[in-house]
Amino acid sequence: MTSQHVGSRQLDTVLLKVASRCNLDCSYCYIYHMGDEAWRSQPKQMSDAVIQMVAQRLSDQLALQAVPFSVVLHGGEPLLLGATRLEHFCATLRGVLPHPCGIHIQTNGALISDRIIDVLVRYDVGVSVSIDGPQAVHDRFRLDHRGKGSFARVRAGVERLMAREDSRALLAGVLAVIDPDSNPAEVYAALKQTGAMSFDVLPRDGNWDKLPFGKRSAKTIEYGIWLEGLLDVYLADPHPPTIRLLDDILRLLLGGRSMKEGVGTADYGILVIEPDGTIEKNDTLKVAGAGADRFDQRWSVFDHSFNDVFGSDEFSAYYHQQRPISAICASCPDLAVCGGGMVAHRWSAERGYDNPSIFCADQRHLIARMRRVVEAAERQEL
Ligand code: SF4
Repeated sequence: MTSQHVGSRQLDTVLLKVASRCNLDCSYCYIYHMGDEAWRSQPKQMSDAVIQMVAQRLSDQLALQAVPFSVVLHGGEPLLLGATRLEHFCATLRGVLPHPCGIHIQTNGALISDRIIDVLVRYDVGVSVSIDGPQAVHDRFRLDHRGKGSFARVRAGVERLMAREDSRALLAGVLAVIDPDSNPAEVYAALKQTGAMSFDVLPRDGNWDKLPFGKRSAKTIEYGIWLEGLLDVYLADPHPPTIRLLDDILRLLLGGRSMKEGVGTADYGILVIEPDGTIEKNDTLKVAGAGADRFDQRWSVFDHSFNDVFGSDEFSAYYHQQRPISAICASCPDLAVCGGGMVAHRWSAERGYDNPSIFCADQRHLIARMRRVVEAAERQEL
């Protein structure tokens, strides 16, 4: 077993898959609708034995790296745990992860009840809710298992959270998956109506073999135009929230670094723990193909520390995979800002990850526009 912290590699984020199933059935979901059926062989929920072992491993890792990290309760839908088990999980994790380590939950919001909120408040768990915009936009894809839209339930959950003085500050953000057919100003307004002060937006998943929804070809810029529209509303708002993607690009244009993967060239140590305790790569890699998020070696919290994983050749390959290998990216003037996009979005069966992002043209369009905004602001300051 490795006893020393491996190089500069450290844990930044752990996604804890505490539930492998979901109460919703969003038609674009990369877990259930991208051809990877691995969720079927997982237990429905993480067991007490696994969460105890996870807590032990996280505690050991914190002592070793001495730099705080975040744990995100993820799924499926993590609130399927119910209030009693959620309390047990949060108490176990908070017991070994004092502040400033963050504990968060990424939820579809439909199951937020007062009992759930009591638990989240008690253990200071930040909440990020997936909501795609106004009802018509959200309900187009975010459906339940009977094919009914989930917007009304999600809105009720967020309103419950925001109605209580003790839980309002827990709403860390809202996360919207972009429908390029939607109006970005309407999406912005709907997200703002939640009261969240932080938004994030994600493009629909895809790669060079499977074009993302709404993109007619790799050369077209549907997402770039949509994001430019969002930028316009954002810049015109006298009381704007933060928008993680746009703020990250702005920071990078000004010479800073990004806060999250997907833009910029910083490396992030992201690991996933499945309900059975298996340690995997970031599960967004499923977008590149079934099993693309799995290590060849089976790592498990029962047998291995995070540091063991960090010391492996496979982890090195995964870590370095964040840097684009395409010659097109290497000579791109926007590389420092774009970073080649999400790894999974570079995939093609013919060339593996040796491609620019399938959103390359969109990224270049948005970055060019944001560069002009920064230059105009700098000219005004002179
Ligand atoms: S994906 Fe496109 S914009 Fe991004 S670094 Fe590569 S070539 Fe440049």
